[in-house]
Amino acid sequence: MLTGVLHEQDEKQAELLQSVLDCTSDGIVVVGDEGEVVLFNPAAAELIKIKEGERLGLRARVFLPEDETTPFPADELPSARAIRGEETSAVEVFLRNEYWPQGIYLSVSGRPLYDEDGRVRGGVVSFHDITKYRQALAKAREAYADMLQFAHIAAHDLQSPLATISGFAGLLRAEYGDEVGDEGREYIGFLVDEAESASRKVEGLLTFSRVGTKGDEFTRFDLNEVLERVLRALAAEIKERGAVVTKETLPIVRADEVQIERVLQNLVSNAMKFKPPEQFPVVHVSAKEEGGSWIICVADRGIGIEERFFDKAFYLFGRVQGGEDYPGDGIGLAVSKRIIERHGGRMWIESEVGFGSKFFFKLPE
Ligand code: ADP
Repeated sequence: MLTGVLHEQDEKQAELLQSVLDCTSDGIVVVGDEGEVVLFNPAAAELIKIKEGERLGLRARVFLPEDETTPFPADELPSARAIRGEETSAVEVFLRNEYWPQGIYLSVSGRPLYDEDGRVRGGVVSFHDITKYRQALAKAREAYADMLQFAHIAAHDLQSPLATISGFAGLLRAEYGDEVGDEGREYIGFLVDEAESASRKVEGLLTFSRVGTKGDEFTRFDLNEVLERVLRALAAEIKERGAVVTKETLPIVRADEVQIERVLQNLVSNAMKFKPPEQFPVVHVSAKEEGGSWIICVADRGIGIEERFFDKAFYLFGRVQGGEDYPGDGIGLAVSKRIIERHGGRMWIESEVGFGSKFFFKLPE
């Protein structure tokens, strides 16, 4: 059928199509409605050693990329889905066979092909080798894990000397404060403040490094109840700031409850903090479903953040707005983002300076 369609093209168009296919570095395979190979380009022949007339994947051993040993469900392959009329995009598979004994990773996309009556008559599958990319990613992950472990050990070892400095600086002030004069007391004050700030940073670094290793199992829980707990924990601050916090009905989710509570607490607390001094904070928490995932939003009408600082706000110790009105250590958002990423989700900001910010996080189903 498809070859028929191609034969009907005028010759020039067919030649053009052939040159495009020939010089495309992605493998491209056209299959008929039974999954038989109708057309393929040189890159496809090179990558999956395909032959005309063969059913796609006949000699291929395709596995899940996560463990490289569980067979990829045949029905879920992009070629099978394309001939069922489904589109797929960048599905990662691991291919190991006699040609690739070590195996290669492919990123595969598929689209159905329709005839004039709108019936599916086959599909187009395109793919490319992402082995180097996957290997680089694995190395980067390893290096990141090593770095976190190093940071964890360093922070752990710094806790005790910092506590000693803090403790003795406090004692110095209490016992000798009267003897050292104004300047001396001021110096001791700096010492106490800085030692406490360093202790908070070290504690933050420990919290950050523990997100991946000290998390709880994922369970199903009601986000409304978690938010209620957060609001109870922040009740004194809400009252003191005269904040109005409203919420829509939130979903039941599957996640690490303690960590998600921490994220919500960070976001609501920030939403109350980063507002002009003369203004009462207004915070709204909402949720919407998108493709089986939940997107939670904590919105405020505060000072907002310039777009160029969106990334910086998520860095560990990254602070965009400091000063007396906005005390903090730049830890909350970095920890929150890491928590959401541990859940396979994403966190991002929308904001307009002077009008407020929206912090979103997406939790996959
Ligand atoms: P901290 O609140 O201790 O500064 P965070 O990591 O929670 O640390 O936030 C990092 C920075 O992001 C803040 O210093 C602030 O500049 C910015 N930020 C966070 N939340 C908001 C918000 N709701 N509105 C405006 N800026 C914010």
